[in-house]
Amino acid sequence: MEQKYIPKSSLKAWLAKVKDGGKQIYAPVTEGGKTSFRRVKSVDDISMEHVQTAQSAKGVAFPRTEKLFSYAMQPGGVALQDYDSANIPHTVVFGLHPCDAAAFKPLSGIFGWDTGDKPFGERMQRVTLVSLSCSKCDELCFCTSVDGSPGSAVGSDILLTAVGSEGYLVEIVTDRGRALTEPHAALFEAAPDVNKEELLAHVPVRFSVGAVERSLAGAFESDVWKQQSARCLGCGACAFVCPACACFDIQENPKGSASGDRIRCWDSCGFSLFTLHTSGHNPRSVQSQRWRQRLLHKFSYMPRRLSVRGCTGCGRCSRACPVDMNLWEHLSELENLKN
Ligand code: SF4
Ligand code: SF4
Repeated sequence: MEQKYIPKSSLKAWLAKVKDGGKQIYAPVTEGGKTSFRRVKSVDDISMEHVQTAQSAKGVAFPRTEKLFSYAMQPGGVALQDYDSANIPHTVVFGLHPCDAAAFKPLSGIFGWDTGDKPFGERMQRVTLVSLSCSKCDELCFCTSVDGSPGSAVGSDILLTAVGSEGYLVEIVTDRGRALTEPHAALFEAAPDVNKEELLAHVPVRFSVGAVERSLAGAFESDVWKQQSARCLGCGACAFVCPACACFDIQENPKGSASGDRIRCWDSCGFSLFTLHTSGHNPRSVQSQRWRQRLLHKFSYMPRRLSVRGCTGCGRCSRACPVDMNLWEHLSELENLKN
């Protein structure tokens, strides 16, 4: 992998040139005490001091709401205006951590399955991921328990790692990453001789994911789901902040009209309405069934069907949960489950 160095003083100049070249920059911005990904107006607005953003970067390819197509009833049929990808901007996602870059793989697994999802696929075609290794973490991070690392380049086009306070080691991972650096080569210097591991946060391994996945194979009827979910409110916050969650709902706007838009919006399998049938039957009528679905989907169904895991250990679900459901503690419990 090609390595370079960029001084801190040149980093914003590089991003400004990328922006001036016509790409939009989507990066962490702090507003009202919260840091989340936003389309930045000025590269001076970018925040790089946080442990983790409140929201992930997944909205760049899977927006919170998105028009899929428009329709109009006409005599003898329906006129459709299909999904229009012409206005999807070329976007550089800057400053996401390795757990968020890695999460585009499970998202691609879900949206690429079977026929493939056109809106997601077209957006991903126009995205370049410039990630930032973690030099600090908190007690809810667990990337190292799910085959990740604070300095993993998996999923990134470019990975930056802070070298002291003066600059960044630049690892150029893909051709898309190279296309972003080569036109601005004068801003980059030769890579320093550093031990990258010494520059990274130490994230302890919290559990054996292999043992968890083996336990889950026989855990469908276990009482553990009732015990673990007893305090879950079904609020869905964990799904909305998760970089790898892909539940969505389809709505009409306006509802019941002869013409309008078909909208896709984020949803959560933790909501009681998510699986409610029009007959009134709900196959996941209680919260323990919905909690079971969340964990089995991420750690059993997705690995078996899509060869990807639906969790990268970012810890956001635990930070966002109003009743302190700590995911890695629950997974540790499952590791030792006696089925
Ligand atoms: S399940 Fe939780 S820890 Fe895992 S990727 Fe989603 S938000 Fe992060
Ligand atoms: S954030 Fe917590 S309370 Fe809300 S659905 Fe998720 S686990 Fe349950």
